[in-house]
Amino acid sequence: MFEHRGSVFVVSAPSGTGKSTLSQRLVQSVPGLIFSISFTTRAPRPGEVDGKDYFFVDNDKFDAMVERGEFVEWVEVYGRKYGTGRTWLESVLSTGQDVLLDIETTGALNLRQAIPDAHMIFILPPSARILEARLRGRGKDSEEQIRMRMEHARHELELFEAYDHLIVNEDLEKAYRGFEAIILATRSRKARMANEAKRILSGF
Ligand code: ADP
Ligand code: 5GP
Repeated sequence: MFEHRGSVFVVSAPSGTGKSTLSQRLVQSVPGLIFSISFTTRAPRPGEVDGKDYFFVDNDKFDAMVERGEFVEWVEVYGRKYGTGRTWLESVLSTGQDVLLDIETTGALNLRQAIPDAHMIFILPPSARILEARLRGRGKDSEEQIRMRMEHARHELELFEAYDHLIVNEDLEKAYRGFEAIILATRSRKARMANEAKRILSGF
């Protein structure tokens, strides 16, 4: 029996803000923080591994999982479905490990309904101009995709009020420290530490 359940951290940001850069570093540096693996109907990109980047499933399997209520939340984006599996999430949390979910804003707001004590983190770019420069600098998107992502970014940024923590990713180091501090501070909350404190007390 573990002394506490793990916590759920949800991170959202407009594409190009630096969410992957920050999240990947965080899960590599903070012990006991696991990156969530979602289910998706989209095809794997070169280098992506089933069971590591995503669980890749076909449309029928995804729909059957929806029917059986096996997702904590799921969304359809441009004809592709993405969902957070209930069993997977529960199994990690029950071992006392924390889970970091990288999901878009609609799914994040639905997850909040399902898991009210989830910690919701939103990462903002310092400005529209800098976000556009980062999207260009990454070199992954066409001009048309950059225009669409910038338009979508404004809609996502309008939802910042629904989140608990807001981090502006201007200086990468400073943003990283802020992100890490949220995770570490949460781990000392009384609700989470009470059993351990009682165990220590019982030894006196
Ligand atoms: P996202 O996952 O939010 O789409 P990425 O992590 O892929 O974004 O970052 C987008 C680009 O911006 C990458 O080229 C990354 O190296 C760069 N980047 C991320 N954070 C910063 C920062 N604080 N300052 C400058 N460039 C950054
Ligand atoms: P990509 O196809 O580039 O891997 O992801 C596209 C978008 O889907 C990203 O914004 C990512 O955060 C989001 N996403 C990935 N998994 C999930 C999920 O399980 N649920 C929701 N709601 N969004 C997801």
